[in-house]
Amino acid sequence: MRKIAMLTSGGDAPGMNACIRAIVLTSLRYGLEVYGYKHGYNGLLEQEYLNLRASNVTNIIQRGGTILRSARCLTFMSDDAARLAAKNLDALGIEALLVIGGDGSFRGAHHLSQHWQGQVIGLPGTIDNDIYGTDATIGYYTAIETALDSIDKVRDTADAFERIFLIEVMGRNAGFIGLNAAIASGADQVMVPELTRSCEDELKNIIDHIDAVKRRRGNNSYIVVITENLWPQGVTQLAQTLTEETEIECRPVILGHVQRGGSPVSQDRVLATKMGAYAVEAALEGKSGVMVAEVNQQLSCCPLETSWQTQKALDPYLVKIQQDLFDLLKRP
Ligand code: ADP
Repeated sequence: MRKIAMLTSGGDAPGMNACIRAIVLTSLRYGLEVYGYKHGYNGLLEQEYLNLRASNVTNIIQRGGTILRSARCLTFMSDDAARLAAKNLDALGIEALLVIGGDGSFRGAHHLSQHWQGQVIGLPGTIDNDIYGTDATIGYYTAIETALDSIDKVRDTADAFERIFLIEVMGRNAGFIGLNAAIASGADQVMVPELTRSCEDELKNIIDHIDAVKRRRGNNSYIVVITENLWPQGVTQLAQTLTEETEIECRPVILGHVQRGGSPVSQDRVLATKMGAYAVEAALEGKSGVMVAEVNQQLSCCPLETSWQTQKALDPYLVKIQQDLFDLLKRP
């Protein structure tokens, strides 16, 4: 192999730059030419790329975002687009393409592989951690820290004003950030999709819990962490309902995109560096149609499709602890 390329696609995540750096440095170490396509799959279609050298990745390991930029590229769903991408990759002589992104980006990589002879390898980069087959994804640990920092701050006001705060965190349709940020912040309640069967039951459950906790503590302060997209009418409406039902003022706080940014924490930098280096070595071994994964600190490659065909479960022990603590909080 002489030439390898990469792109970052879909939602950006802290640690993507650390991953780009590792891919560039490992490729150079093995004597490969390394290219970075810009703006996700758009770069493949527009032939917008950089020939990367060590100097391009100096001083980026600590930076959030991605120096290659990221984007969504709806046209890439078509066969014509995948064929054009294949033609452009061949014209540049690329033999392997590394895709850093979430499950949508992996579907894109799989789609490309139906029309291109080169190797495709995915690296899981998303704050949501919703990729089956790997313990963690690049950016996930930083997103928990960012959410946690905000929840700790909101708690000060919740205590001072004796209010309920409903804090919405990201996660798309998965509760990894929500559950972990709730446990780490000592939140009174957590609402994540995996543990919510009926919104009506959940509402009743929370109202009863707030009442029991209030009586036990003699204080109205209460923190709920909730995953985005969970409440059908949105958290603002849920906060209004809670205010009416409990007669305690409830404020919604939507953390939003702050969770996608910022300097990656050390766990994300290390994970990104390991995965980046491993992906280049996997490409040199001829692997294709796979995703780099880490399970129990062991790196391996698993089929790309499993990343989206199987739903990743929350840590059952963490779920149990959360439920035990929830019950304990309301005991008289
Ligand atoms: P993420 O990778 O963070 O899950 P998206 O779901 O938005 O983000 O997907 C990122 C990009 O991957 C899309 O904009 C599109 O270019 C590509 N993609 C997603 N699904 C497919 C698909 N089924 N076929 C081809 N390309 C896809």
